[in-house]
Amino acid sequence: MSILNKTLSRRELLKLGGLAGLAGALGASRLARAETAAQPAQSVLPQVPRRVLGKTQQTIPILLMGGSSRFDQKFDPRFAEACRFGVNYFDMADCYAGGTSETALGGFLERSGKRKDIWITTKSCDHSPAGLVRILDRSLERMKTDHVDLFFLHALKDSIHLSPEMARLSEQLKKDGKIRFFGFSCHGPTSVELLNKAAGLPWIDAIMFKYNFREYGNKELNAAMDACHKANIGLIAMKTQGSAVSFEDRIKPFEGGKFTRHQAVLKAVWADERITAAVSEMDTLEKLKQNIAAAIDPEKLSDAERAALQQYAQATEHLYCRGCDHICGSALPEGIQVGAALRCLMYHDAYGNPQKARETFASLPAEARQFAGLDFSKAATLCPHQVDIGKHMQRAMTVLV
Ligand code: SF4
Repeated sequence: MSILNKTLSRRELLKLGGLAGLAGALGASRLARAETAAQPAQSVLPQVPRRVLGKTQQTIPILLMGGSSRFDQKFDPRFAEACRFGVNYFDMADCYAGGTSETALGGFLERSGKRKDIWITTKSCDHSPAGLVRILDRSLERMKTDHVDLFFLHALKDSIHLSPEMARLSEQLKKDGKIRFFGFSCHGPTSVELLNKAAGLPWIDAIMFKYNFREYGNKELNAAMDACHKANIGLIAMKTQGSAVSFEDRIKPFEGGKFTRHQAVLKAVWADERITAAVSEMDTLEKLKQNIAAAIDPEKLSDAERAALQQYAQATEHLYCRGCDHICGSALPEGIQVGAALRCLMYHDAYGNPQKARETFASLPAEARQFAGLDFSKAATLCPHQVDIGKHMQRAMTVLV
């Protein structure tokens, strides 16, 4: 029996129906009114646990609503539904869904009047001080608010941007009341270097980084996480599913068990006390409900389930690209980004989200998308994880273009 069935087959499941259950029955305008008015006895609903986000000293839910999937601009029941169970943290970025995630959230905030109850994080892909300020102002306008709670340099790769000038800017933005806290997100091969540098920077409040069950044995990453934790920097995990690039990822070692695989990998991240929360792209109400159920259920993974995760990690190692392009890229023409292309393929095959996959792929530089007919055999011999680069890049070209 899955945790969803176990946990929510009681009265909570009926309540979980709430706005979500109404979605098919009511029109958008009536639902929008329900978004504001129907706040049925929130105190009796089970709430997702909260933890303190490092030096911010603020509590946030252990499950955070990711914003990179597309939201309905008129009415998206996920916003209110998440809030009903205490998931009041929305993780946005200027570039998510072409800016429409922020505008959808802005619509929800305006209709519901809930700004004071919501934690907003947003991010800038532009890491120059002037560009960052311009992006922040645009994000504030889109979300119809005068401040965000946490502002990130998005997908940071180069530690050069963690400069004294950036420290002064973050301080100024705080004084101006536009942001409350500052940090960065990262998911590339430089993450360890970035975390280590951040541990010595008192002006970095929080970091969102790629962390999942595949990284337990990564000594360098764990040491960098320890350093940040000691420095009281709030740590938020993303890419927690550790999804592989191939459809072969859909092995289900947890089928028939207490947790689904998706729930188990979240549980595995929450078991790490250095991590405050995990952000999750919950692009359907069903995923939202399953993740909430996993977060609310206090039961931990059993030893057998942890062992199954480890076995799964080993069995799919050759399907999991870690984005270390500097390794295989040395045998490829300049501009080809195997890690980025295979991340898009992962969105397509493992996440089952072709739209996001194609949009992300289309946003890559032109030279990163021109690899049709390229011979990847030499690059594949360099990959320390035995990823069959040629096979997956060929599929990427077929499904992403
Ligand atoms: S294919 Fe291998 S070497 Fe290339 S980025 Fe992925 S994991 Fe790294």
